[in-house]
Amino acid sequence: AKKAGRNRFTWFDHSMERELKARNDLENGLRSAIPRGEIVPYFEQQVDLESGRLEGFEVLARWDHPTRGLILPEVFIPIAEETGLIADLSLSLMRQAFTVARDWDDSLRLAVNISPWQLRDAWLAQKIIKLLTETGFPARRLEIEITESALFENLELAQSIIGNLKNQGTTVALDDFGTGYSSLAHLRALPFDRIKIDKSFVTSMNESPDSAAIVTAIARLGESLNLPVTAEGVEDEALDIRLREIGCARAQGWFYGKPLSVIGARRLLAEKGLL
Ligand code: C2E
Ligand code: CA
Ligand code: CA
Ligand code: CA
Repeated sequence: AKKAGRNRFTWFDHSMERELKARNDLENGLRSAIPRGEIVPYFEQQVDLESGRLEGFEVLARWDHPTRGLILPEVFIPIAEETGLIADLSLSLMRQAFTVARDWDDSLRLAVNISPWQLRDAWLAQKIIKLLTETGFPARRLEIEITESALFENLELAQSIIGNLKNQGTTVALDDFGTGYSSLAHLRALPFDRIKIDKSFVTSMNESPDSAAIVTAIARLGESLNLPVTAEGVEDEALDIRLREIGCARAQGWFYGKPLSVIGARRLLAEKGLL
């Protein structure tokens, strides 16, 4: 029995070793991918529900890997956060997105995701403002999306970063509202301009009355707090119609379009006469 136990541990060690190696490879790969420009922005349409008009895009990170193809953020963002690489990754992504979107129609906004980790950097607002100046993308066309209770790690710092950006005309959204990370308490902690309902509630609305009730309640909450609500994860027309009835202001999801590359976004905007 003792021997079997030891063997089991040996096997366990090997599988942990493999996992560790895979992670290390990913981390090293990511470290060189950022300066090489392999982390690229994709653009997901955000539409005004009432008019159906395109309001802008959420910027989503993709790793355009030379041999593995497009890698999704759930694979590399957590590693970027653990290693601190997220700071460089995020600035590189914003620089690319601002540079291409600067020439798009002036009505189009960009929403970028900021990791809680980045809100520990006292110079974050200055870095973003410098990028805006350098690329010529107007601050008022930028929206910052924030999640997570880590805000409270250093609430004063987060407040000052957000305050500096808002002074320039940038708006701020509370992302993934309704999940464990974004709760009612957060709504009062920072001067948010908008709430985003997590897609887990939205995608399940057609089948689950509970989800539908939650989405309706969040829409009402937004109304009484004077905060427009964005629904994400809208996958079909039935959801689009429901959300309009409920009074959501804005929506995004596969029904309107999958996230687009720079070239794809440009093609869409050319069709719409928004270049
Ligand atoms: P998120 O901010 O909640 O982004 C929405 C995610 O939902 C995106 O996944 C998007 O592709 C996906 N999605 C959009 N429409 C639909 C739909 O109709 N149905 C379904 N099932 N999913 C839909 P993605 O691009 O894989 O991003 C995942 C998460 O990675 C993001 O969640 C965000 O938390 C993080 N992320 C992405 N880019 C960045 C970034 O530049 N910085 C940071 N800090 N995080 C990022
Ligand atoms: Ca987001
Ligand atoms: Ca979200
Ligand atoms: Ca999310």
